[in-house]
Amino acid sequence: MAKKVAPNKKATWAELSRLIRVKRCLETTGFPFVGVCVTCGKRFHIAALQAGHCFAGRKNVALLCTKFIDCQCVICNETHHGRAKRYERIIRERYGDNFVDRQLPRLHRVIADRDIDWAGRKARYRRRQVALLKKHGHSNYTEMLQSTRN
Ligand SMILES: [Zn+2]
Repeated sequence: MAKKVAPNKKATWAELSRLIRVKRCLETTGFPFVGVCVTCGKRFHIAALQAGHCFAGRKNVALLCTKFIDCQCVICNETHHGRAKRYERIIRERYGDNFVDRQLPRLHRVIADRDIDWAGRKARYRRRQVALLKKHGHSNYTEMLQSTRN
């Protein structure tokens, strides 16, 4: 029998990516729609930013651990495959070696898709994302993109 893909996994990641990008944009510029790429330091509109993992993982805890996901531009995330060395150095400066080293075994722990409540997470990420956007005068992500297009 073919392996079933968790139906909500992709949509859940899309919501988490938006939440992280909005959060990091606010942290780096004060605006929910402009942010700084963690690895090259350049500013981009949120639509040009991706949520990049410091520690890779599609099947482990790192996939959803927000502390180690940040905004990256397409050049850093895709062309340079995340600039892993530089990214890790930045993360270690941010949290300290002790903290990062303590987290690593947990981040590498494999979790099966069926053990994750994708629908629940999707709803939670969306709620947190909308709450952040409302504080900054936007009703949701799509509306924000439309109103900041020009
Ligand atoms: Zn970059």
